[in-house]
Amino acid sequence: MPTEHTTDVLEYTTGRATITYLRPATRDHAYLVDARCERCHRDVLHGAGDDLDNLALGDRRTHCACPGSYELTDSDGVIPRRVAEIRADLTAREARHRAAH
Ligand SMILES: [Zn+2]
Repeated sequence: MPTEHTTDVLEYTTGRATITYLRPATRDHAYLVDARCERCHRDVLHGAGDDLDNLALGDRRTHCACPGSYELTDSDGVIPRRVAEIRADLTAREARHRAAH
């Protein structure tokens, strides 16, 4: 079995996906990230855990048709902006909830 192309294969199977949005999941109090695969430009969706202070990003198996995995990267600063917006929304919801009871 030839092994001289191992490095090429690794480069080919590890890509990046740029995060485009962070949103609360409709259940489970967890969060989802929208991302776009840099190889095929397909939009993908990944779970990011339930802790806004410590979202689970990093390397993932691809959800598009590309082989291997990619790294979820926040090159546009989407996560800090959306975390602030989601926090403000949660605070507003709690205030409404308190006012209703
Ligand atoms: Zn892809």
